Amino acid sequence: MIERNNRCKACEGTGMLADDEGWQYKCSVCGGDGDFFPGDNPEPTNRINVDENNRLLD
Ligand SMILES: [Zn+2]
Repeated sequence: MIERNNRCKACEGTGMLADDEGWQYKCSVCGGDGDFFPGDNPEPTNRINVDENNRLLD
């Protein structure tokens, strides 16, 4: 699956994240620009699907 845009999954493209107390801070994944590129910190969400718990079992 390919995302339509390289929108950052961590901040959903806003460039900002908020902790559980509501404090907002710049997203460290995309660097605050809201775009996630492979050169940024890799997010192991759906890049690695065939590993660990998803081993093929014949
Ligand atoms: Zn982000």
